[in-house]
Amino acid sequence: MLVNAHDHLSHYHSLDEALREIERLEMTTLAVSESVQDYKSIPDHPLILKGIGIHPWQVTPETSLQGLEEYILDCDFIGEIGLDYYWAKDQSAYPKQREVFEFLLQMAKAHHKITNIHTKGAEGEVLQLLKHYQLHGQIIHWYSGPLELLDEYLALDCFFTISVDAGHSELTDAIIDRIPHDRLLFETDGPGALEWVTGEPSWPEDILRIRQYVAERKGLNLTEVDSGSRKLMALLK
Ligand SMILES: [Zn+2]
Repeated sequence: MLVNAHDHLSHYHSLDEALREIERLEMTTLAVSESVQDYKSIPDHPLILKGIGIHPWQVTPETSLQGLEEYILDCDFIGEIGLDYYWAKDQSAYPKQREVFEFLLQMAKAHHKITNIHTKGAEGEVLQLLKHYQLHGQIIHWYSGPLELLDEYLALDCFFTISVDAGHSELTDAIIDRIPHDRLLFETDGPGALEWVTGEPSWPEDILRIRQYVAERKGLNLTEVDSGSRKLMALLK
């Protein structure tokens, strides 16, 4: 079972080419969006699950939540959402980031949707909010925060995506080692993320390399290493 747990379809230079590769691999893809406009561009496709999100980088003090609930009712999951106090340098938008994120967590709770969460520089605060809203089984995307928080996230049954820096990062190795295999997922985060790591754009097929790397590191076969993906798919159905 191949699942890409976090991909930005609108970032590919050719959506058709990306879809052809997704079809060739028969890979279920969680297509996150960063805005309503981005969400509307996600194609209807049997292998694509649609996520409505407002990315923390897109939040400004003027960001409006009006009309969002309609898309939340329509979506397969909520994401990409979250907080970012590291890459997002405009501190005047931080209160709005929190307001938008909390609203979307409340929507997730009310409508029983799974969220796909960005936590950069805000790992402790995201954890406290998940506890506050009693949200279990959420997807923590490309975690790179303190290892000390992992047990508390795991107590909430969170899933952790391993991204394109697998094999290039000691921190990611430590996360792979710490997370039980049935809580691990794989993702490519669109074509730009690997470019950031190696200079080369990524492609849906990179899931095969990431999954193989995790399987070898944890001493698992491919059926075992897919158990997190199987659990997630059962929850999303
Ligand atoms: Zn992303």
